[in-house]
Amino acid sequence: MDKNERKELMSKSNISKKVEKVLEFEEDFQNRIRKQLENIAKDKTNVEDGDRVKDESSDMVVCVRIRPRHQEEIDLEYFNVVYSNSKNEVTVFDPAFDVRGKVKLVTSNFGVDHAFGPEKENAEVYSTLGPEVVDLSLQGGICSLLSYGQTGAGKTYTMNGMLEFLAQDLFDRQQQCKGKINLYFSCFEILGDCLTDLLKTELAENDGKPAKSLEILEDKFGKMQVKGAVEILIDTPDHLKNMIATAAGYRKTTTTFKNDRSSRSHAVYRIRNRYKRSRSLYLAP
Ligand code: ADP
Ligand code: MG
Repeated sequence: MDKNERKELMSKSNISKKVEKVLEFEEDFQNRIRKQLENIAKDKTNVEDGDRVKDESSDMVVCVRIRPRHQEEIDLEYFNVVYSNSKNEVTVFDPAFDVRGKVKLVTSNFGVDHAFGPEKENAEVYSTLGPEVVDLSLQGGICSLLSYGQTGAGKTYTMNGMLEFLAQDLFDRQQQCKGKINLYFSCFEILGDCLTDLLKTELAENDGKPAKSLEILEDKFGKMQVKGAVEILIDTPDHLKNMIATAAGYRKTTTTFKNDRSSRSHAVYRIRNRYKRSRSLYLAP
């Protein structure tokens, strides 16, 4: 979609009028945001850098990643309204107008386990989150990385990055275990109430068969199992990366005004490592 088509689509959206009005008062909003950020930085009641108190009993880690503005957003002079700081806090400034039409900022603050600003690369996100996930899965656990957010927020970008680093990391660890671990990859897509095997799609395409539908069943232990998913034994990090790319290519995408190839489904990438007993790692962008 080119810039003008995107602009036209955007102009038909519900938020377009609000955006136009906000941009009229951009300087005012930006000054208020700057002042509030200065106050937040000065606030001594905040926990010290990197010292956010963690709930040790929780087995969940919550992160926020803020993507950089696209070139088009910069060209349209959109400004940042979501900020993170080194105390792992995220501040969202919602530009608004009071009943008299005067500028006001509705500010919300959130504390999370890790807040990644727009300058953070995938490598840093992975080095913060990945090793723990790999360790746990090698010790027999089942770990999931799940990304959640609005279309265009950066879920696919982040998860593709995580998968790439994960592929390398798992193979490095496999070497350390002198190759005693076998890694199996499977990948499926959930669209509405349909579950499709993305690897089976690839295998079946040459003889023209339709993509294979899968079933999710509950086993006798009350755990969800995907019945009949193709699993491929992976030999090298590049093999895994190629299988991930091939499977991702079969995902159903649609052009939206925010994203030319927006994934309209949920993909689940499953890496199972078998080291004496089965251990699994799930990724669901
Ligand atoms: P989602 O999957 O949430 O709909 P995408 O991951 O497809 O969004 O991201 C939308 C666009 O933003 C893509 O063009 C992507 O390359 C870009 N993008 C997202 N996150 C980042 C980032 N951290 N750094 C650079 N570009 C990003
Ligand atoms: Mg996506």
